[in-house]
Amino acid sequence: MYIVRYILSSQTMQMQNFEELKKLLSQSKRIVLLPHRNPDGDAIGSTLAMSHYLTKKGHECEIIAPNDFPKFLKWMDGAKRISIAEYNPGKSRILIEKAELIFILDFNSISRIDEVGDWLQRSTVPKIMIDHHQEPEQFDFMYSDVSIPATCQMVYNFIEAMGDMELLDKTISECIYTGIMTDTGNFRFRNTSASTHRVVAELLERGIEIDKIYNQVFDTQSPNRLKMLGLALDSLEAFPQHRSACMFLTREQQFEYGSQKGDTEGFVNYGLGISDFVFSVIFIEDQQNDFIKISFRSKGSFDVNAFARKHFNGGGHINAAGGRSELNMEETLQKFRELLDIYKEELQAVQI
Ligand code: 5GP
Ligand code: MN
Repeated sequence: MYIVRYILSSQTMQMQNFEELKKLLSQSKRIVLLPHRNPDGDAIGSTLAMSHYLTKKGHECEIIAPNDFPKFLKWMDGAKRISIAEYNPGKSRILIEKAELIFILDFNSISRIDEVGDWLQRSTVPKIMIDHHQEPEQFDFMYSDVSIPATCQMVYNFIEAMGDMELLDKTISECIYTGIMTDTGNFRFRNTSASTHRVVAELLERGIEIDKIYNQVFDTQSPNRLKMLGLALDSLEAFPQHRSACMFLTREQQFEYGSQKGDTEGFVNYGLGISDFVFSVIFIEDQQNDFIKISFRSKGSFDVNAFARKHFNGGGHINAAGGRSELNMEETLQKFRELLDIYKEELQAVQI
């Protein structure tokens, strides 16, 4: 009995002034929900799940993504109605101006949403942040827990804390599952907990079809994506002394293969498939802007969030982070090689 109580309390939602928020949500409101720039499965899954739930409670919901998101997330119910601020800034700005409540999901820093952040800062309505990244900024209502592997799991906890489990239907469950599946690397990252699996058990009981969800997200690739993966793998540089690997893709290579949003997602993980390696990085020239987008992945104690923050103007989680470089590709690669030497002992000490 004691153990059961401990497990339940470890996943209980902690939000200051939750009763006040409950009261705000007891009357119909115009609500805007925001995911971060370059939204991933967890960002789209959590905003859609929350939006479906709040709509069922009688609210009027609009999701605004700072920029577009990959096709492999557009099958989700409601995904095609998401406003993309990059394509339609006027409409997005007005929706934010008219909102009576704003939900901020899967990010915690206004800098992650570009121009949308300026509109957000001008808005004086209550803001509710639900997120699992480190070092959150301050918002009116905050549910921040870095131990939870996906914001979608936190959305589930939120619905449960609201006492609204009867509103959790198959559609909401599908969105929540998608975010948990993608953010846990298909349930393999270490922060995938017993609570995560308990949540998934509840979702399965609401009729989600996990094979179809997996198929929609992972087995809908284009031949060109696989060819581009070939190019990335061909660029692989291995550093056995540092248990690290890096890859890169130039703008021209992406152009040649007609690279679409999301096409390079997951490439970085291949570097961690090398025996004994604990750190993998991919450098991808942005197709529109003059910088290099970087993805970092690690195993065990090697903290890529700290690495990305310190050296590449980014952040994220201990084993998955992103950042950027304003240098050109060769200079960026050189900077990385030099940094690896500084981290050599730390990398060698990682236990896997
Ligand atoms: P990805 O490599 O898939 O773009 O990002 C991995 C993780 O790092 C995600 O959780 C994402 O939210 C976070 N992340 C990616 N890019 C940035 C960035 O530029 N700044 C911060 N703070 N986090 C990032
Ligand atoms: Mn997430």
